[in-house]
Amino acid sequence: MSSNLLNLYGLTRAELGSLVSGWEISPVHAARLWRYLYLDGADTLAEMTELPARLRARLEAGTTFGRLAVARETHSGDGFTRKYLLGLADAHRIETVLMRYKGRTTACISSQVGCAMGCVFCATGQMGYTRHLTPAEIVAQAIHVDRVLRHTADEAPALAEGDHSSPHHRHERLRNIVLMGMGEPLHNYDSVMKAVDILCDGAGLGLGAKKITLSTVGVVPGIIRLADERRPIYLAVSLHGATQAERATLVPAARAWPLEMLMEACRYYTDKMERRIFFEWTLIEGKNDGPEQAHAVGSLLKGVPAQVNLIPLNPTAGYGGAPSHQAAARRFQDILAGYSIPSTVRQRRGIDIGAGCGQLAVAEAG
Ligand code: SF4
Repeated sequence: MSSNLLNLYGLTRAELGSLVSGWEISPVHAARLWRYLYLDGADTLAEMTELPARLRARLEAGTTFGRLAVARETHSGDGFTRKYLLGLADAHRIETVLMRYKGRTTACISSQVGCAMGCVFCATGQMGYTRHLTPAEIVAQAIHVDRVLRHTADEAPALAEGDHSSPHHRHERLRNIVLMGMGEPLHNYDSVMKAVDILCDGAGLGLGAKKITLSTVGVVPGIIRLADERRPIYLAVSLHGATQAERATLVPAARAWPLEMLMEACRYYTDKMERRIFFEWTLIEGKNDGPEQAHAVGSLLKGVPAQVNLIPLNPTAGYGGAPSHQAAARRFQDILAGYSIPSTVRQRRGIDIGAGCGQLAVAEAG
């Protein structure tokens, strides 16, 4: 896959239409090409037999829509999670995760090679930043997962505990996306939003915007822009500390966007969007899982439509903290409930293959 070629996965349907009409070829064929890309999951131009030869020759000469090459695939022991190490055209690599649980199919997608935000407990942050992903590279991860799902529909993996339905009745298409993989999506705002537009196109993959959740470490200008542009995707904000001093020890980005500024942006977002924010809280034993911190979160989020997702720390090589015990997580939840803040404790899945939150990293990137 040469990087000089125009990657079709990076074009909106309108842009693809302009490209084809610029070659003086009927828009009917542009529409068919779009369907080949997003509905039929075509792997090669040769499969696009309904396109006129003239269009295929143009596409052959100047474009690509290649798959991301799978360098490694790992499956979790419980069968719910698969992690893909995917190769990019310039030999960098990223990780994408497929989660299938309780009939839900979700892709956890990366937005950058590495990450500049440096959260201390995160394997991606420990790697440092290499580059932004293009819209095509972001879309291609979703296409990869969608293809996997379609091609494995007649296998009989454990879709859910106690799921005995026939494989033929399973709706094996990608339904949900979380932008929680490698990278800070709001640091690569334009590419991520273009990819979201492509993925949500009703004539293509047709993912509802409400099926997409973007997770940010708290990039304030990006949060304000999401609200100003009225982007209908869900927003998750990584909090991890309820005072500026505590948060800054875990999340260096808090120095650029202090907690007070972040909460102001969150209130602006919830007012303008009239929807709640998911706040993520990595539970680290003895560090931020005590009653005092839970009360501080309750006070901090007062008046903000919020749900708190508690995530017991997942192990990474570069951070020595331990996950909180269940009892601490439950106590944290009870305290939040006293402030009328709903919360969940995230299931620890994919940990055995390094596919849990904060575990994605590519040692051999580049
Ligand atoms: S948690 Fe997210 S923002 Fe923080 S370093 Fe990891 S990938 Fe980057």
